[in-house]
Amino acid sequence: MTGDVVRRAADALRRASTVTVLTGAGVSAASGIPTFRGKDGLWRKVRAETLATAEAFEHDPKLVWEWYDWRRGMIRDAQPNAGHTVLARWTRERSGTTVITQNVDGLHERANTHSITRLHGSIWHVRCWTGCARGREDWRDDTVPLPTLPPRCPHCGGLVRPGVVWFGESLDTSVLQRATAAAAGCDVFMAIGTSAVVYPAAELLPHARHGGATVIEINPEATNASGISDIVIRQRADEALARLDEML
Ligand code: NAD
Ligand code: ZN
Repeated sequence: MTGDVVRRAADALRRASTVTVLTGAGVSAASGIPTFRGKDGLWRKVRAETLATAEAFEHDPKLVWEWYDWRRGMIRDAQPNAGHTVLARWTRERSGTTVITQNVDGLHERANTHSITRLHGSIWHVRCWTGCARGREDWRDDTVPLPTLPPRCPHCGGLVRPGVVWFGESLDTSVLQRATAAAAGCDVFMAIGTSAVVYPAAELLPHARHGGATVIEINPEATNASGISDIVIRQRADEALARLDEML
């Protein structure tokens, strides 16, 4: 049964000249990084979704930074898994393959993914929260753990925030345009390890569908993407991608 579905997905991928892949937290689950939704989305009994907001930061920047510092430590110690590796190789060896990720962990980059669009920024970047002129642009800070929480802006001494897109914030317009074009213009669109409830990322699925793409979902659970998908593989991302790769 599953083998049949994987074979159909492999056939679609073989025929495609452009493949756009949308990834979510589930792709990094096999690397030991918890997703937001589900039982793993808890930290000190606080829901992740309530910490990843400007309101939470405004109210308690130290608490929000403790959570990010903990995640940064976990991600630094993690390794890309077979899912990241297969996707990365496809971007290098199969021209027309591009990855759009909602993940902020940088594991696609560490797996040497050539074509990658980060919708929600990077946990390894920070910028000035106060908005001083010199701290407005993101800069990279790999220090783990951070020496003081919350960290301070080297330019104005104000607070520094993570360079990620929080719930309720807008995506960078040019990034979203690039992602939308890649979804609308592809032959095969894959939604892997995403619950497809975070907008506008989830809107890429109908864009792909309207553009005529074959939509493939890889997720062990049913999601918002399932109904709009032509082919659904109910498996972990690392296992499903390894099998698909063998069949190509
Ligand atoms: P989500 O937490 O809403 O959903 C995760 C999905 O992954 C679920 O549908 C779950 O069934 C699936 N899943 C779990 N294990 C899997 C596996 N081994 N293989 C495949 N699928 C698996 O995540 P989301 O849809 O990415 O949206 C949440 C937001 O949280 C995003 O905006 C993202 O920026 C952020 N986030 C990022 C990370 C990260 O960078 N690693 C981790 C957690 C959350
Ligand atoms: Zn500043």
